[in-house]
Amino acid sequence: MIQDFEQQAEAFHQELYREYYLAESGLKEQLSITPIYERYAHLFSEHQVRRLLEDTHDRQHKYLTEWVTLEYLENLVKGLTEQVTNAIRSATVEWDRQQVPYHNLRPMMSNEPDMARRHQLDELERGITASANAERVERLRRLHDKTKSLGFEGYATLCDQLRGLRLEELTQQMQNLLRATRDVFLQLLAEHLQGLGVPIEDAAACDTLALFRGRKFDVLFHEKSMIPALSRTLGGMGIDLARQSNLELDIEPRPLKTPRAFCAPIRVPEEVKLVTKPIGGPDDYASLLHEAGHAQHFVHVDQDLPFSFRRLGDNSVTEGYAFLFQYLLLNPQWLRRILGIEDSAEYIRLVRFRKLWLLRRYGSKLLYEQQLHNELDEAQQQYVNILGDGLGVAIGPENYLADTDDAFYCAQYLRAWIFEVQLRHFLEDQFGVEWFATREAGECLISLWRRGQELRPEELVKDMGYDGLEPEHLIQELVGFTYD
Ligand SMILES: [Zn+2]
Repeated sequence: MIQDFEQQAEAFHQELYREYYLAESGLKEQLSITPIYERYAHLFSEHQVRRLLEDTHDRQHKYLTEWVTLEYLENLVKGLTEQVTNAIRSATVEWDRQQVPYHNLRPMMSNEPDMARRHQLDELERGITASANAERVERLRRLHDKTKSLGFEGYATLCDQLRGLRLEELTQQMQNLLRATRDVFLQLLAEHLQGLGVPIEDAAACDTLALFRGRKFDVLFHEKSMIPALSRTLGGMGIDLARQSNLELDIEPRPLKTPRAFCAPIRVPEEVKLVTKPIGGPDDYASLLHEAGHAQHFVHVDQDLPFSFRRLGDNSVTEGYAFLFQYLLLNPQWLRRILGIEDSAEYIRLVRFRKLWLLRRYGSKLLYEQQLHNELDEAQQQYVNILGDGLGVAIGPENYLADTDDAFYCAQYLRAWIFEVQLRHFLEDQFGVEWFATREAGECLISLWRRGQELRPEELVKDMGYDGLEPEHLIQELVGFTYD
């Protein structure tokens, strides 16, 4: 019974991800998910969801229930999701007497050296974002109402219970992190922004796009070296990228292709796409490495595992592997061996600050999103207050809904950041700081990847025979530098 259901679920999942892949990679003009949901409507009937929710004792069942429930909710609002996505995708603004598509605005802000012009671009982007906010509110209201009628106290409780997020503990950890790093963060923020010519009192969130774009480091991160660097890194772990027939590297430039790299695990482990539009620069490297971490995880998953463990399960696991690859950029040995960068101190200083920014941003988002799902009417003000307090810059109120993901994905990122620190420590203890250049580390990772997402990060860490980090060291390790 559960096998039949899983087979159907997997077929649906494949069609859905293929559609996302085609739209995001620019092979298809419009995203069209409604017909897919309609074909598989029987999977997401209310009866089905209620039946699954009655009994979630074993893990396979639990992961399937989590997924079906969230897809059931999405199915109820898919028209609005599509409406918002397509309105944003086709929106353009006039800039320097040219029509510019919405999805070009962020890259343009990252590359704009003049603060006033950057702020104007940001205002244009926020205008488009705001134009779809009524639909976003309606979408959330429907999700909230349905959550309650399923018998949950609220949307946060539903996500916490079904996804095993441990929200209370995580919230506590993030409050500690926000408190402990506040002074050092504000000091570093002012220093970094000054280097960019932005006085702290004028700073907006979009200025950090330009800061983290790190243009002056472009010379170290060539477009042409990107794929070879990835290939060499994997080679060091005994993995031959060119011979992975289940991984397709899509690097063809297409006008509608999303500028950021992404990984589309369409059939796990048989058909995984790593999609990128290489432009070079440190940011592009970071997102390629991140997505390559996902891709390596998915192509190595044991094909005999049930769908629930191959593709569903705890996403903090795959995000942890993605961060492990991404933060090779914080490893001076990797920068030297793979990219030939001898003096990486200044670059690493920026990447560390970026990580601190992101931890504070997602920590703040975790606090904010709990408020959002509790009291939608006051959410906009809460967004400005909580994010502004966490990040020390002006926050655009129009983004209060667009800047969130469904189902507390922010919590899964935060759990993944914690997992990455533990995993990296384990690899460094076992194989040294140049673990990425050893076959043994590759074998160790492959044996973890094979397990899919059956185990949660805390269980994997325990399973490695590694105690993990003492809670009092965790913040320090997450941030990656010593402060007082
Ligand atoms: Zn990711």
